[in-house]
Amino acid sequence: MIECLFCGQYFAADFNLLDLLSTQKKRQGRLCRQCLKRFPRLGKTRCPNCDKNVEKSGLCLDCQDWQKIYPDNLLKNHAVYRYSDAFHDLLVNYKRYGDYCLREILQELIRKEIQEYHFDYYVPVPTSPEHQKRRQFDTVSAIFADLLPLSYFLKKKEGTGAQGEKNKRQRLLTPQGFFVAKDAPIKDNISNDRFLLLDDIYTTGRTLYNARDKLLEVFPQAKIESFAICH
Ligand SMILES: [Zn+2]
Ligand SMILES: [Zn+2]
Repeated sequence: MIECLFCGQYFAADFNLLDLLSTQKKRQGRLCRQCLKRFPRLGKTRCPNCDKNVEKSGLCLDCQDWQKIYPDNLLKNHAVYRYSDAFHDLLVNYKRYGDYCLREILQELIRKEIQEYHFDYYVPVPTSPEHQKRRQFDTVSAIFADLLPLSYFLKKKEGTGAQGEKNKRQRLLTPQGFFVAKDAPIKDNISNDRFLLLDDIYTTGRTLYNARDKLLEVFPQAKIESFAICH
């Protein structure tokens, strides 16, 4: 029996004959079936640019607003799950209370999907130094570091706060809080490569656009897209 990391109930591992015959060790899930259902995948009708679920096909309202600011340079975002109460609870416990173990749930939710992306650089959106100090770990890097080879190009300025504590208007007004790390392993020949920015949640897009803009200052030719676990 396995203890579900989300609800604490014990459950039996999924098991079938193929697993028995397979020589590959199957990774054990950390979520029981009931909890897994609490993380709904995004539905079929999505914004073609940011993956948000929309009523009718076409650019969502947020992307239409971004298009006014970036007429030729919208940030293409990929997402897998719809933001739900379960995600809210999970992210509060993970980020606000610093429950490091919960990253395993987030990893389990995207383990398969994230393998389908093929970029040259995977750049996690960093947490501010004061939050990182309080929690002893960087929340976004901790999720993705076990799944992808990460490039830590971006750093966050001290005192720039967390998006989770702001309302939508405040989020949209968030000034540029990122800078490109001096110790980033930057080679002369990487400016044409494809970058995937990584974050846990896409809300207004402000954070990811700020991160993208900063990278573009240093790598003007780079093709940059983003990935967020939920939207
Ligand atoms: Zn559970
Ligand atoms: Zn959109």
